[in-house]
Amino acid sequence: MNNNRKLYCDVLVIGSGMAGFSTAITASEEGLEVILINKEASLEESNTHYAQGGIVCLGEDDSPQLLINDIIEAGDGISNLEAVTILASEGSSLVEDFLVKKIGVPFSRSEKGAFEYAREASHSRRRILHCMDTTGRVIEKNLIKKAENIDNIRILTNYTAIDLLTIPHHSTNPLSLYTEPQCIGAYVLNNVNEKVEMIFSAYTVLATGGLGRIYLHTTNPPCATGDGFAMAYRAGARLINMEYIQFHPTSLFHKDADGFLISEAMRGEGAKLKTKDNVPFMDKYSPLGDLAPRDEVSRSIYEEMIRRGDSYVYLDIASYTKIDIKKRFPAIYEKCLSLDIDILKSPMPVVPAAHYSCGGVQVDSWGRTSLRNLYAVGEVSATGIHGANRLASTALLEGLVWGVRAAQHMATFLDGEKPYKESEIPPWQFPEKEEEVDPALIQQDWLSIKSTMWNYAGIIRTIKRLERGRADLGYLKNRIDDFYRKAHLNPMVLNLRNGIQTALIVAEAAFSNRINRGAHYIK
Ligand SMILES: Cc1cc2nc3c(=O)[nH]c(=O)nc-3n(C[C@H](O)[C@H](O)[C@H](O)COP(=O)(O)OP(=O)(O)OC[C@H]3O[C@@H](n4cnc5c(N)ncnc54)[C@H](O)[C@@H]3O)c2cc1C
Repeated sequence: MNNNRKLYCDVLVIGSGMAGFSTAITASEEGLEVILINKEASLEESNTHYAQGGIVCLGEDDSPQLLINDIIEAGDGISNLEAVTILASEGSSLVEDFLVKKIGVPFSRSEKGAFEYAREASHSRRRILHCMDTTGRVIEKNLIKKAENIDNIRILTNYTAIDLLTIPHHSTNPLSLYTEPQCIGAYVLNNVNEKVEMIFSAYTVLATGGLGRIYLHTTNPPCATGDGFAMAYRAGARLINMEYIQFHPTSLFHKDADGFLISEAMRGEGAKLKTKDNVPFMDKYSPLGDLAPRDEVSRSIYEEMIRRGDSYVYLDIASYTKIDIKKRFPAIYEKCLSLDIDILKSPMPVVPAAHYSCGGVQVDSWGRTSLRNLYAVGEVSATGIHGANRLASTALLEGLVWGVRAAQHMATFLDGEKPYKESEIPPWQFPEKEEEVDPALIQQDWLSIKSTMWNYAGIIRTIKRLERGRADLGYLKNRIDDFYRKAHLNPMVLNLRNGIQTALIVAEAAFSNRINRGAHYIK
C-alpha cells in the first residue's frame, strides 16, 4: 500500500512564491489554519526568487490613472479594467504595509533615504521599487522568514500536488452528482517516501506559478512546468487567454546560462540592442525604440536573427549609460563575469525566451475560480490585468494584491460545513503492477514538448505550424497519459504529465485565436 496519512486545514496553498506566501500569511492572520506546500526541496525555489527588475508602485510624479493607462496600453486593449483598477489603487499601500512594514523588505533607497524608483519599458513614469537587481530573492527570503514564524502555517516542502480533489468526481456517493462541483483539497505526493497523501481543505489555492519550462528557451526555473494550469483544467475550472505567452526579449545566450534573465531595467537605463556587427536596430521597428513593449522587442529580435541567420543579438549597456553599472546591476554583472563576459567593456549576447503566462485560471476580483472553493493567485491565475501582454514588473504586485484579497475573502466566508462524507472519498488508486520509470524516455518527451512549443507555438506563429504542433502534442499526450497510468509515481512523471497538458492548452488556444494582439502573433 503506497498511501499514507490524511491532513486537514482551512486553507491549502499550493506554491511558495509571492502569491502563495501572501495568501498564507494573510489567511493565518485572519485565524485560519493553513498548509502550504512546495514540490521542491528548497522552499525558496519559485519564479519569485528569480525576479530581478522589481515591483511596480506609484512613483513621485505618478497616479493610479497613469499606471492604469500604461497597463491597458501594454495589454493591447483587452485588460480587465476592474482588475487593473484594483491593482493600481490598492497596490502601493500593500507594498508599503505588507512588504515594507510587515515583512521588512529593504527596497533600494537614495542617500537621503527616499525610495529609489527605476524605470522600465512601457512605463510612463519611474515607479519600480527594487532591491538592486535581486528583488525577488530578497522578497522571497523575507516571506519565508515571516511565514516560518507563524504557528498556524504548516509548511511542507518536497510535496507535489498531483490533482485537485473534487466532488462529484472523486466521490463514491452517486447522489453527489446533484451537488455543485467543488474542490475539497488535493492528492499530493510525498516526494521523499513516494506515498500519496490526501489534504482535505475548506479552500484550496493554486499558487503554482508559470509554465516557461514547456519552451526550449525560458527564463523560468525548473519548477515552472505548468502544473496549476493542468490541474485546474483536469478539475474542470475555466482557463482564459492561454495563447498570450510573453517572451522576454533578453535572456543571456550562453551554454551555461540556463535562460539567465537580463533585466529590462537595463534598457530603462539606456542599454541598446544591436546586431552582431554593432548596429542598433530597434528604432527601425518601433517609435519607442529600445523601450517598446516586450512583444514588439522580442519579435524584432527574432526577425533580425532570422534575417541575418544569427543565433543571438547584442545588448550593449557599456557604450550608452552614465550610471554605475556594477552598483545598479550587481547580480547581472557577476553572472556575466562568471561566464567571461565583462559588461563594463563589452555587449552581452542575448536571445528572447518564454517568460510569463498572461492567461491562466480565470478568477474574479477575490481570486475565486469557476470551481467552488478553488482560488487561484499569482501567475497561474488570470485576473485579466495583463490582457494580451504584461507590463513589466506588475506580476509580483498582482500576486501580492490577489494573495491578500483571496485570503480576506476566504476568512469572511468560512463556515466549517463539510458538503461530503470523508468516507466517500477513496484513497489514491495505484496500478496493480507499476512500471519503473526510465529517465531517458522522460527527457526525450520533454525535448519534444519544448521544441514543438518553441518552433510551432512560439514568438511568431503560423496556422500551419500550430496545426502541426497540436497534432504532435496530441499524439504525445496520449502516450504520456498511458505511461502515467502505469508508471511508478515520482515528481518527474508528474511534471511531464502537467507539461504536456499545459502545452496542449496553449497550442489549442493559439490555434483558435486568429486575431493578432499583444503577445499572440500569427504570420
Ligand atoms: C527571471 C525572472 C524575472 C522576473 N522578474 C520580474 C520582475 O522584476 N517583476 C515582476 O513583477 N515579475 C517578474 N517576473 C515574474 C514573476 O517573478 C512571477 O510571475 C511571479 O514571481 C510568480 O509568483 P507566483 O507566486 O505566482 O509563482 P512562483 O513564484 O513561481 O511560485 C510557484 C510555486 O509553486 C510551486 N509549485 C508548482 N507546481 C507545484 C505542485 N504541483 N505542487 C506543489 N508546488 C508546486 C513551485 O515550486 C513554486 O514554489 C520574473 C520572472 C522570472 C522567471
